[in-house]
Amino acid sequence: MNFDLVVKNGLVVSASATYHADIGVSAGKIAAIGEDLAGAQEIDAAGKLVIPGGVDIHVHMQMSLGDGVISSDDFYSGTRAAAFGGTTTIVDFVEPGPEQTLVEGLADRRAEADPQVVIDYGLHMTIGPNEIAKLDQVQAAYDAGCGSFKLYMAYGFRLDDGQLLRALEAIRDAGGQPVIHAENWDVICALVERNVQAGRTTPHWHPRSRPAPMEGEAAGRAIDIAHFVDTPLHIFHVSCSDVVERIKAARAAGWPITGETCPQYLFLTWDAYDAPGLAGTFPVCSPPIRAKSHQEALWQALGRGDLQLVTTDHCPFTSDLKARGLHDFSKIPGGVPSIEMRLAGVYQGVVREHFSPNRWVELCCTAPARLAGLHDKGDIAIGLDADLVIFDPDRPVTLSTDFLHERCDWTPYDGIELTGWPAVTISRGEVIIRDGEFLGEPGRGRFVERIPNIVKR
Ligand SMILES: [Zn+2]
Repeated sequence: MNFDLVVKNGLVVSASATYHADIGVSAGKIAAIGEDLAGAQEIDAAGKLVIPGGVDIHVHMQMSLGDGVISSDDFYSGTRAAAFGGTTTIVDFVEPGPEQTLVEGLADRRAEADPQVVIDYGLHMTIGPNEIAKLDQVQAAYDAGCGSFKLYMAYGFRLDDGQLLRALEAIRDAGGQPVIHAENWDVICALVERNVQAGRTTPHWHPRSRPAPMEGEAAGRAIDIAHFVDTPLHIFHVSCSDVVERIKAARAAGWPITGETCPQYLFLTWDAYDAPGLAGTFPVCSPPIRAKSHQEALWQALGRGDLQLVTTDHCPFTSDLKARGLHDFSKIPGGVPSIEMRLAGVYQGVVREHFSPNRWVELCCTAPARLAGLHDKGDIAIGLDADLVIFDPDRPVTLSTDFLHERCDWTPYDGIELTGWPAVTISRGEVIIRDGEFLGEPGRGRFVERIPNIVKR
């Protein structure tokens, strides 16, 4: 049999196994795993790792915060940068308008994304205060392929605990997977107000207005409510050991609780907020970046299995928008670019011997695909989508805005040196990145309907 494409001579690394094999691809699917396969197109992966394409289930492309503030990567530039970094599937968000049904909101967001995406994508459905009156539509959103639902305990999207209870019940009844931004909003508002009124307005005060123990409190409260409702819950962007301890305790009790962290919490410390001038505003994101001890705890939690996956919360804002908060940290739009460096960044956990190459693949590819209900993604097996990355484990790179392809005029990782970088990215059998060249095109990515593996009650 002659395949469309064969990746030859690589060391295949999945979440569960490591072996030398060729991978044959036909019609966009993995068709064979074996020796001496032949194809119309062949790529030699000798000396390199062959892994499933990266799956980043937490990104915000062209996210509008109002007043002209919009995240700087659109669905084209953001998914192109993702592909350069070895990510072949993302999950972004629907934020329905107040007068819209959930399914109408989904159609609008798909109309933005579909012509632009260069890799496959899904969408979480946001359930904010306006959506509490629409909980009878959760099943329809689920049936339309939005199998996961985003809940917030902060910002204008914030649900109070009673609303949180009702939303979790509706998601449970539909068989959906809830994901949550857990912070204690009342405490944050009080501390921000106190600090700004006292003239403590530099970015130094951003993390000090959002204390780690209060993130732990909020996550613990959300976990307890989810347990009461008898539903799984995934905790987004865990920044600190306080939340790790809550997740660990819940899992030890057998509760279906999962958590993720992000590269900004693994590579930066809160000293970044003390950089002079505008540079101190760049790393503002929420939850904030913490002291060094938390960074070490997060790497260990990934290795021990106390955190289950790594996403990015990719949400960059250009320096002119960050500058709006130069004299008041509470007005800095929150978010950083990480989508391109995530896979290689987390690989440093292998380099530093925090965990195995298999665990790296599990954290960045397999576990996120499973949680989000991306059944054809995140693994190397016959019949799955041929989303593959040929990863050069020895290539040294120094991160900079010149090196990266994200549409942002700064990166929080400037000057950081990594070992290992993707050489080739393949999406459904199509080579879209090869040796630093982009070969894909906007609109080739597809919306993926996602049905998480949760037993409907
Ligand atoms: Zn986010």
